Amino acid sequence: MFSKILIANRGEIACRVIRTARRLGIRTVAVYSDADRDALHVALAGEAIHIGPAAAGESYLSKEKIIAAAQRTRAEAIHPGYGFLSENAEFAEAVEAAGLVFVGPSPASIRAMGLKDAAKALMERAGVPVVPGYHGDGQEPGFLAEQADGIGFPVLIKARAGGGGKGMRRVDRPEDLEASLEAAKREAKSAFGDDAVLIEKYLIKPRHIEIQVFGDSYGNAVHLFERDCSLQRRHQKVIEEAPAPGMTEEMRSAMGEAAVRAARAIDYRGAGTVEFIADISDGLSPDRFFFMEMNTRLQVEHPVTEAIAGVDLVEWQLRVASGEPLPKTQDELTINGWAFEARIYAEDPSRGFLPATGTLSHLRFPEDDARIDAGVREGDSITPHYDPLIAKLTVHAPDRAAALARLTQGLKQTQVAGTTTNLDFLIRLSRQPDFVAGHPDTGLIDRDVEALTATQQPDDAALAIAAIVEAGGFRRAAGSDPWLSLGAWQLWGETSRPVTLHFAGGHRNCWVIAKAETIFNVAFDDRTIPVHLFESDTVSRRVEIDGRQSHVDIFETSSGVTLFFDGHTHHFHRLDLLDGAEEAAAGGDRVIAPMPGLVKIVRVREGDAVAKGQALVVMEAMKMELTLTATRDGIVESLHVGEGDQTSESAVLLSLRPEDAV
Ligand code: ADP
Repeated sequence: MFSKILIANRGEIACRVIRTARRLGIRTVAVYSDADRDALHVALAGEAIHIGPAAAGESYLSKEKIIAAAQRTRAEAIHPGYGFLSENAEFAEAVEAAGLVFVGPSPASIRAMGLKDAAKALMERAGVPVVPGYHGDGQEPGFLAEQADGIGFPVLIKARAGGGGKGMRRVDRPEDLEASLEAAKREAKSAFGDDAVLIEKYLIKPRHIEIQVFGDSYGNAVHLFERDCSLQRRHQKVIEEAPAPGMTEEMRSAMGEAAVRAARAIDYRGAGTVEFIADISDGLSPDRFFFMEMNTRLQVEHPVTEAIAGVDLVEWQLRVASGEPLPKTQDELTINGWAFEARIYAEDPSRGFLPATGTLSHLRFPEDDARIDAGVREGDSITPHYDPLIAKLTVHAPDRAAALARLTQGLKQTQVAGTTTNLDFLIRLSRQPDFVAGHPDTGLIDRDVEALTATQQPDDAALAIAAIVEAGGFRRAAGSDPWLSLGAWQLWGETSRPVTLHFAGGHRNCWVIAKAETIFNVAFDDRTIPVHLFESDTVSRRVEIDGRQSHVDIFETSSGVTLFFDGHTHHFHRLDLLDGAEEAAAGGDRVIAPMPGLVKIVRVREGDAVAKGQALVVMEAMKMELTLTATRDGIVESLHVGEGDQTSESAVLLSLRPEDAV
């Protein structure tokens, strides 16, 4: 076995490899970019080498820098993780040429599976079923159109160098083929520098089922059963499970044997995944699954296989790479129970899954019954430089229903403040009826995407808690800084305060009425909710709302308040006075009050010419003075307020018109 390895990766996979290496007594070397100087994988490793700027192209993708780091630290082997250089044959070659061990297959095996067309041809020869279609050299549009007619519509155009769903186009009608071909080729050219495509029969209701394979240097190859990765969004996996629901022993052996044949055909060594697509228009059937591609590396979703097979795949990788034979034979491998993995991302499902960034001011994972593979810790930032994965949550139980219940529970117990996450989306997906019934398919998320991604509106109970937080009631009840909180209340000269709560998709006004130190009424337009707070020395507070007791965790940040309540995350943002002023003025034509307040000074009159940056109105709100300025040159067209006026939030204070307009 090796005594020291270098991990040519970052984030959760680097952390995951380091953990196994440490358990095996292997010393570890991390590499890091400028953006990762203080990252978790660096802290976990025995030593770490800086390899350049944040841009991956100049750090994590630099073959030379990584090999130099291994030589400098006298590491004997390099584990590439997934992504980055993990499927780069030239890198594997360069590692070997430097006298180091590449923890993965041979460069020749990587090359054999590198292009989808060549891989499909190879698999056909090895007797592995492939998706019907054309995967030859001919690329003329007329010729491809004939092929598509022969295959029968709908068809799927795929870039032969493709990955990550890029360069893929579904075509339903012959007349659309030419335009889609052009688009796919353009996309492929810019993403992979290779515009060659193949055409496949498009399966209407498929499932993505993949087989984990493993080979060693002695010609042994086994499979470690299947994973169902049918829950996908834009061809990216979201929740994976093992085994696959509805799988029969007959189909499992057929798929397992085909995958082992695929691995043997390229003398495969190490961990690999053979991806199949199963046509389930008539249910799962051993004669309707087809090879799609082989990933010659460890897969993101490998933990579900580890859970049901009871093995550590990274340990197997290291053993095999150091020259040991496979730890188990096919007969020694069995399936135990059921496992799910969910990928928790910093992204906003309600805005088309836009990647999000931010500092994780609070981060909690379930403590029992779940495996967490995280690449970040509380206080770390999700930056725009890399994949916004926060963590993978893996659960394992004796049967599917129990595992699924654990998945939902684990997701609900996960708390992230400081960025937007897909947690609510994952929770809803974990309860989606077709999925719960064991009928996933690759179109499931898209069909149901509106319900799965609708903005979670806070319910009245969550609103009531947030209102009390904003009114200072929790601080008052906790007894910390009584002068400050009481002062804030006394400012209003009574025991009630108006509060406006802002959340994604709207805002609500209410009054918080203090009945006693720990007893409040929160009055909305249509109803009043009694709330009772209980003493507690932890962040998790016990509350009674409308006669029902539960727990709430409250985190105040500079941008607002985040509540974890009833398994949901609710964020209420505070309008930044200055941001609000800028935003209000940025509209250009109208100057708008960012919050309710008193107009103290009006510095202009109707007809005045004003210059960009000039002060127009001074407001007083919440005991602070706020100057609203012009964001561009113009003429004051109309003035809607005078000094001493009270204004409401979003009221138009004055309107401008461009100087040259009449
Ligand atoms: P990539 O390498 O870009 O990820 P894949 O060939 O692995 O592309 O396919 C990605 C996903 O696209 C699959 O998991 C499946 O959901 C869908 N897909 C691929 N081929 C077909 C097909 N022939 N018919 C229907 N869907 C397909």
